[in-house]
Amino acid sequence: IIFLKCNFHLNEEQKMSELFSLKNKRILITGSTRGIGNLLANGLAEHGAEIIIHGTRLETAEKIAADFNTKGFKAYAVAFDVTDSKAAQDTIDYIEKEIGPIDVLINNAGIQRRYPFCEFPEKDYDDVISVNQKAVFIISQAVARYMVKRQRGKIINIGSMQSELGRDTITPYAASKGAVKMLTRGMCVELARYNIQVNGIAPGYFATELTKPLVENQEFTSWLCKRTPAGRWGDPKELIGAAVFLSSKASDFVNGHLLFVDGGMLAAV
Ligand code: NDP
Repeated sequence: IIFLKCNFHLNEEQKMSELFSLKNKRILITGSTRGIGNLLANGLAEHGAEIIIHGTRLETAEKIAADFNTKGFKAYAVAFDVTDSKAAQDTIDYIEKEIGPIDVLINNAGIQRRYPFCEFPEKDYDDVISVNQKAVFIISQAVARYMVKRQRGKIINIGSMQSELGRDTITPYAASKGAVKMLTRGMCVELARYNIQVNGIAPGYFATELTKPLVENQEFTSWLCKRTPAGRWGDPKELIGAAVFLSSKASDFVNGHLLFVDGGMLAAV
């Protein structure tokens, strides 16, 4: 029998406040001009992170970054369409050279299109896959090349509980999020040796622009409240804790996971 000697005394660095601190971390959040990405940007900034706000329009991103700076946070703004691989690569190069190293990348930008399966237009299918799935690969690859050189970094992919469920009218969305789950696992396996952690957050139902048609549908909300053990919609602020954990030192040996934040919906049959 081999007895392992363990030292259970926490050193300064391991103490709680340090474990979850995001001081000196620079975090790029795609799609942080509104919705979940914007709330994560606020929550992570409150925990000390420097934030790079991203959206499709530079003017909007700059205004948000300026508001952050007024509040005493440190923020920058960039804009590109996540389906434009060259623009993505050029912007990542610009950030790394002109702003500083990206310590954490949060792939959050996403879209949803709703049509019955037999009527789903091919163009909308392509758009959903390009934004939700291919962009995660392209942007992560561009950022990971720098992280590999530094031998450290964290990537967080915003998936969805829909990667586990079949639901009416959003089959391509569910498929794109299923792919995000497997991109997360594959990237974890390939990048862990460089001290890079790749995890995902899979939100349940949160009221944002993306879910507006559902929020406005009383019948859906009644179904949702019955189906979710917590009995309610999620408040996007409730995703901040998961993002802080996965961005911080506290998760240095957590790799390849999808953390469901869904009020227990997935656990219930
Ligand atoms: P919103 O529609 O509120 O916000 C989407 C964000 O993504 C915006 O900042 C938007 O930028 C950006 N974006 C969209 N398309 C592009 C593009 N082509 N290029 C660059 N940026 C783009 O969505 P949510 O906040 O609700 O969703 C955020 C993420 O969370 C998505 O990945 C979504 O799938 C996921 N999710 C959401 C759930 C929910 O209940 N809301 C549940 C499960 C997962 P701009 O403002 O410039 O248009």
